Amino acid sequence: MKNRLSFRKWPSLYGYISATVGVAAATVIFALLNRYVSESVAGMLYLFVVVISATGTGLGAAIWAALLSFICWNFFFVHPVGTFYITETRSLIALVTFLGIAMMTGQLAAGARRRALEAAEASAKLEAERLKASLLSSISHDLRTPLASIKASATSIGVEDAVTDEIQRKALAQSIVHNVDRLDNFVSNLLDISRLEAGAWLPNKEPYPFIEILGTVLQRLSDEDAVRLELFVPADLPLVPLDEVQMQQVLWNLIENALKYTPSETLLHLNARADDGFLEVSLRDHGPGVPAGEEKNIFHKFYRVSSPAANNHSGVGIGLTICKQIVEAHGGRVWAANAPDGGAVFTFTLPLIERKRGT
Ligand code: ADP
Repeated sequence: MKNRLSFRKWPSLYGYISATVGVAAATVIFALLNRYVSESVAGMLYLFVVVISATGTGLGAAIWAALLSFICWNFFFVHPVGTFYITETRSLIALVTFLGIAMMTGQLAAGARRRALEAAEASAKLEAERLKASLLSSISHDLRTPLASIKASATSIGVEDAVTDEIQRKALAQSIVHNVDRLDNFVSNLLDISRLEAGAWLPNKEPYPFIEILGTVLQRLSDEDAVRLELFVPADLPLVPLDEVQMQQVLWNLIENALKYTPSETLLHLNARADDGFLEVSLRDHGPGVPAGEEKNIFHKFYRVSSPAANNHSGVGIGLTICKQIVEAHGGRVWAANAPDGGAVFTFTLPLIERKRGT
């Protein structure tokens, strides 16, 4: 794979042009100050341009700036002015010394630039490797855990005498369905994020009763999870223009997070209301909440809060990114906050009236 951050030893034409402009500017500045300052100021001005060229664009431009400075200094300021003759030994020594120092300084500065670029490249590579490793470990964990659970339940059902009563068999079957749903959701999220990012999954909006979306999502919850959810949804909510499949994904991701990041004995409260032309849905939990300052970051792709509470749970950090992209594609907003007495509150809004593009 080609590295995005590539080091170029020889700068482009731009480097040479800026070095030329820099030397011209130094010449003009010294011409203006010539009467008031000594010759060494010209040397410093030119050296300054050489260093800037070396650190900004590389060794080639620095050498070019050094040679050009040597020529300009000689032509414009060394007696006899306006020629390339050097009659005084003192001036010749000053000029040659300048050229030597300029070349060395340029080389040192270009070396420092090269090392800085190489270090940045190495650290970008390292970061990419770290991200890949953590993504792979999260992905394998998110795939393996439900698979192991499915295998255990299916094995128990298959082994005679292991399941003695109907209730136990039903619970195992339910656990299989629940874990298959988890896997299905995980794979959906991975596919959704790539489709959304490619702009290949635009919402197909139809006026829809929100309560039906909620009903479909609730059916996918296990019995233990479903009893934790308290609903406050008025029966007379207006229809909302939405993409049914996308909106199910939004609700599922929020509910799944709330179940995942909170103690299993706590309740979740889902409120829906129509207000000021928008449907507003909020999900409140009684978990640790979102650490202060992370409320916006958690919607960034692959972003996971690094706190002991969050580290206990697997995940890849795309669930909320998907929620945000879908809700915004519907013309709504989604945000996270903390309730005054603890717990996270995730809220999203959806316009009740379809807005035409540009209105
Ligand atoms: P994942 O759950 O895979 O890490 P998400 O994008 O769904 O990815 O969530 C991003 C982060 O937001 C999580 O890692 C978690 O730290 C935080 N988060 C999400 N929901 C909650 C919640 N209900 N309570 C506390 N933190 C949450």
